[in-house]
Amino acid sequence: MSIRPVLFWFRQDLRIADNPGLSAALAHGGSVIPIYIQDESGEGDWVPGAASRWWLHHSLTSLNARLGQLGATLIVKKGPALKVLQEMVELSGAQAIYWNRRYEPSIIQRDSAIKSFFLQQGLEVHSFNGALILEPWEVQNKAGQPFKVFTPFWKTCLENLPQRFPVAPSPAENGSRWHKGPAREFAGLDVDALSLLPAIPWDAHFSDCWTPGEAGAAENLRIFVGRAFGAYKMQRDFPALPGTSRLSPHLHFGEVSPRQIWNFLAEVFHEDTGWIRSQYVAEIGWREFAHHLLYHFPDTTSRPLRPEFEAFPWREDSAGYRSWTRGLTGYPIVDAGMRELWATGWMHNRLRMIVASFLVKHLRISWSAGARWFWDTLVDADLASNTLGWQWAAGCGADAAPYFRIFNPILQGEKFDPDGVYVKKWVTELKKVPVQYIHKPWEMPAGVQKLAGVRIGVDYPEPVVDHAAARQSALAALQSIRKDGA
Ligand SMILES: Cc1cc2nc3c(=O)[nH]c(=O)nc-3n(C[C@H](O)[C@H](O)[C@H](O)COP(=O)(O)OP(=O)(O)OC[C@H]3O[C@@H](n4cnc5c(N)ncnc54)[C@H](O)[C@@H]3O)c2cc1C
Repeated sequence: MSIRPVLFWFRQDLRIADNPGLSAALAHGGSVIPIYIQDESGEGDWVPGAASRWWLHHSLTSLNARLGQLGATLIVKKGPALKVLQEMVELSGAQAIYWNRRYEPSIIQRDSAIKSFFLQQGLEVHSFNGALILEPWEVQNKAGQPFKVFTPFWKTCLENLPQRFPVAPSPAENGSRWHKGPAREFAGLDVDALSLLPAIPWDAHFSDCWTPGEAGAAENLRIFVGRAFGAYKMQRDFPALPGTSRLSPHLHFGEVSPRQIWNFLAEVFHEDTGWIRSQYVAEIGWREFAHHLLYHFPDTTSRPLRPEFEAFPWREDSAGYRSWTRGLTGYPIVDAGMRELWATGWMHNRLRMIVASFLVKHLRISWSAGARWFWDTLVDADLASNTLGWQWAAGCGADAAPYFRIFNPILQGEKFDPDGVYVKKWVTELKKVPVQYIHKPWEMPAGVQKLAGVRIGVDYPEPVVDHAAARQSALAALQSIRKDGA
């Protein structure tokens, strides 16, 4: 009797190598039908934004080509996942469904319902960890509770990790039991039919910056470890330097996994295990922490983890918000970050902290408005990391920067972009401004403005708020929610 086929459902694990769910599907014995489903109804309030959709289009195209080389066809579908899977089971006679887990609250709910449904139908359903070093529920504090502070969280994780993770066998090692047959057999769509690319081509520069897909991820990792890993701790805060890995979108879409990064570092450094406690690996740890928090505190995507912040007097300020989104606040370091985001779909972490702080403290606009803008414009938009980052900046989340610690955008610029190289790259109207004024151009005397070819207030805005006044007003707002006045 021939073994019935199995479905492997690609989600945020768009890679072939070391993919535990795919590997298990290929080991099952039946031929494997790889499928991708665009199910926007399952994403709840967080349907992927425009920049993520751009990435997804190219990543799926790349995955499809790679599968083609292996003799398989990716079946691309659109619609509610349960309905699509039911149809696929009927058409193919599949006896099992495999996938790697996702951790967004609405996806957990959807996937649990799908799992129960098919188990009741007598099918096998298997899910795996393909995206994290440890599952969010595998780590807890001594009282058996989830962690809310990073350092003890990561220390506990490190105590439980092997020097190397087992690697899932590749399709070739599994004997490549792919289902043979054209996509039309299952009414599969072209990736183009998902309409993921923007109608107005604001993504013109994205292709110059990124190579979505598994090969692009592997190349990024190789280059980063070869050139910048050793100096990461020193360079990672300076946005003009290529000091960070830029792996975040690749990690979000699962083109590479943190366990693969871990194993790659173990291989490169052999006996020297110092990398395990490196700053870089700790940053991967922050990604784990973000997933831990999202899993245990799912409401934090829209509500502050610290309940006293529910009463915080956020301001409605559409003009201020607009100046922030456009990179026209008059503070060059903030504007450079926002323009880098718009042009490339990514922003350096130091800048994310600066611009987020500016929105929630100088403009006193709610962190959730900022999180929404990032959600739409980041190619690495990730519900766990974005929620953590914004609540951190607003002082209302886990292990957050206290709200009263207010970044001074002038000093941040002078410290982390001392020569103004980063600012001049993105705020081109300031490219001839002398270094002593680059982070406070409004102080330029008229003669210097003339020489620099820029009129402050005409070619580049005056600051939308005065730093000292905004600081006072933010502190007063904080005081209003402190019951004890401390
Ligand atoms: C307000 C705000 C919003 C953010 N939104 C996102 C988001 O939507 N998606 C996202 O991936 N990251 C987000 N981050 C975290 C961080 O800024 C990015 O992960 C990082 O800049 C990506 O660049 P990189 O790959 O070069 O990082 P590297 O410095 O090379 O770090 C390696 C990897 O570690 C992880 N990482 C690093 N820093 C953090 C962090 N603070 N929190 C969680 N993971 C981290 C990322 O996966 C990153 O790719 C946000 C941070 C802030 C302050």
